[in-house]
Amino acid sequence: MKQLLPLGLPGTEKPGPIIIAGPCSAETLEQTMSTALDLSRNGIKIFRAGIWKPRTKPGGFEGIGEKGLCWLSEVKKATGMSTSTEVATKAHVEAAINAGIDMLWIGARTSANPFAMQEIADTIAKLNPDIPVLVKNPVNPDLELWIGALMRLYNAGVRRLGAIHRGFSTYGKHLYRNVPQWEVPFELARRYSNLPIICDPSHIGGKRELVGPLSQEALDMGFDGLIIESHCNPDCALSDKSQQVTPEVLNFILSTLVVRDQVQTTENLAMLRRQIDSLDNQLIDVLGRRMAVCREIGQYKKDHRMTIVQAGRYDSIMNSRVEAAKKIGMDGEFMRTVLAAIHEESVRQQLEILNRR
Ligand code: PEP
Ligand code: MN
Repeated sequence: MKQLLPLGLPGTEKPGPIIIAGPCSAETLEQTMSTALDLSRNGIKIFRAGIWKPRTKPGGFEGIGEKGLCWLSEVKKATGMSTSTEVATKAHVEAAINAGIDMLWIGARTSANPFAMQEIADTIAKLNPDIPVLVKNPVNPDLELWIGALMRLYNAGVRRLGAIHRGFSTYGKHLYRNVPQWEVPFELARRYSNLPIICDPSHIGGKRELVGPLSQEALDMGFDGLIIESHCNPDCALSDKSQQVTPEVLNFILSTLVVRDQVQTTENLAMLRRQIDSLDNQLIDVLGRRMAVCREIGQYKKDHRMTIVQAGRYDSIMNSRVEAAKKIGMDGEFMRTVLAAIHEESVRQQLEILNRR
């Protein structure tokens, strides 16, 4: 994806974060318009509203459908904001482009589906390859699938592309509705430095009180913008009510955000980075030496016909290291994860020795 073009809508020029806001769903003309007028008064330039809603189970509010597209045209006329909506099928793309929607986004359930993505990509390319398209990460943390979805659009000829990080589904209870696993969008940014990546704190957090902190975290980590759900009366929203904030609250959140300079690095920062480089090299070196000792142990165990894994030993290593880590202010769970990964690799290396003739 070497020849990406800028998104090209007002409010997406650098510097400064791209801000997209609006309700999860367009529900009525009044709700859509009232939300839009308040957002526009607060300086928002790009309006979002879902027209077709992919719901987990049948029976929920599945979106107002095509007639909502006229409401978005009304919003554009009344406020001058650009409009955006989610498309999940060829028919959605046709209807949205015919209605003059300015930007499309692909939802997390759709970006996980290569057949749907190909059909959407081909339809957009045929009807309006110049329209900007944002691709949400697939529901599962699969970076290649996310890139694949973007590439289908790119290969079809759609060049105004961006990505939205909205977190990943998990089973069980978590602080977040969708766990962020920031390393996935970081790797996307590393591979495609010209691709704008926008954070969706509403769907990551799933709760109003997490929108502000997650937004700041995203800006601190260098995301190019935010897409935030805002509704004139969140408690009565027909979808995602617990994560939507009023335009007034959104305005307050945005006013508290600190936008940091991504380009300028001070000498201090450069020095700190050099320290990190050096510490990482030391870590690699120490790990390499640890593995060399493990291989020697492997040889010993082979010579003495011992089993590779000795549960008691593993348990005592784990407990003593976790305690030591906690004493210097590290999280015990973090240390367990690191040790488990190191242990797994040690076992793999010892098995290699065992199976060697
Ligand atoms: C949405 O943006 O309202 C939405 C349905 O998002 P996601 O695809 O991230 O679940
Ligand atoms: Mn939503």
